[in-house]
Amino acid sequence: MNDNRGSWKCLKCNEKLAKKKTVFTYLGHNFSHEVMTCPTCGKVFIPKDLAMGKMAQVEEQLEDK
Ligand SMILES: [Zn+2]
Repeated sequence: MNDNRGSWKCLKCNEKLAKKKTVFTYLGHNFSHEVMTCPTCGKVFIPKDLAMGKMAQVEEQLEDK
């Protein structure tokens, strides 16, 4: 098992990622979440399951109207 969770690094800077609250916009809705960010270049790393989950939530809200 190769468990890198909690110790991600930016491949470009070789810098350890830090958790940072980031605001996203999707389909005109804003939502914030703590994601792993590179403190040097500011690149944000979003796990695919988080992105998919948030987008599904927004789409459900839209359909609720
Ligand atoms: Zn970086």
